[in-house]
Amino acid sequence: MPFPHLSIVIPMFNEEAVLPLLADRLRPLADAMVADGVCAAYEIVAVDDGSTDATPVLLQRLRRTWPEVRVLRLRANAGHQAAISAGLARARGDYVVTLDADLQDPPEVIREMLTIARTEGVDVVYGVRTDRTTDSGFKRWSARTFYRAQRALSSVDTPLDAGDYRLMSRATVEAVNALPEHHRVLRFVVPALGFPSATVGYRRAERAAGESKYPLARMLKLSVDSVTGFSLTPLRFATWLGLIGGLAALAILVFALGSRLAGHTLPGWTSTVVIVSAVGAVQLLALGILGEYVGRMYAAMQGRPTYFVAHDSLGEPEQAPQDR
Ligand code: UDP
Ligand code: MG
Repeated sequence: MPFPHLSIVIPMFNEEAVLPLLADRLRPLADAMVADGVCAAYEIVAVDDGSTDATPVLLQRLRRTWPEVRVLRLRANAGHQAAISAGLARARGDYVVTLDADLQDPPEVIREMLTIARTEGVDVVYGVRTDRTTDSGFKRWSARTFYRAQRALSSVDTPLDAGDYRLMSRATVEAVNALPEHHRVLRFVVPALGFPSATVGYRRAERAAGESKYPLARMLKLSVDSVTGFSLTPLRFATWLGLIGGLAALAILVFALGSRLAGHTLPGWTSTVVIVSAVGAVQLLALGILGEYVGRMYAAMQGRPTYFVAHDSLGEPEQAPQDR
């Protein structure tokens, strides 16, 4: 097998403080991979996600001394996931790694990921955080809850505690790029594509410099995107409410009619109660039915595969009878 070309996609938003540290650490590693024949060549796709600090200036300066650096600048801040998507759409490598700029994902692992992909013949290698003692207690608790809830709500088998540090083959990247979905959360979309995968554990380090670009509001948005992107459970809520409401309306109807027959009612009360509860139940049920169709349209629009062909013998030579 010829040596592959590698793309390293790095989203960055206002990362002037870490950029020099990242370059100093990543360049020797990447150059060594080429020197050792782990890959034939590499490109760094630095996605500048609309930074307002010196990041673009530093990137241009870096490019003068490090020709493998490609700078993709987004006109405005689009967010971490969108920045990675932009990088994936333009990366040219046979394998593509996505990496955070802040050195929380140790770049040494890239070499291991590539080796695993090539020796085990898998398309995706997930970096799995085995140790996040450097993250704050709240971050760890929220991440833990997030991954477990996601797994419980979605039917996709996602590796636990895998963030966006992963290596993908060209075929995987093409499949991701072909998805029309907005607000996609790549760490769950990639497993949903069903490519053969492996994992590699790593220790999540502390941010090398600067501050987290993920305030609580962004974390919440990521959670909402993850749940709505992978689960129709919230949508089905209306159906269940409609069913429960319908049963309740029926009970109220029986009660109202009973009271009427027993003669304990004011004139007009029975008909009012019956009409109000019946209309309420019908509306909720209709909403639920609508929800089911909306859910189907949503799934169709997401365009994710519903099955994965591993092999098709069409066009292969026929087996001799004795081989059967
Ligand atoms: N990032 C980005 N756009 C954003 C927010 C973050 O490109 O709007 C990048 C950021 O520069 C970093 C990566 O995404 O390279 C992860 O962000 P951060 O380290 O702030 O998140 P945390 O590790 O705190 O969850
Ligand atoms: Mg970080």
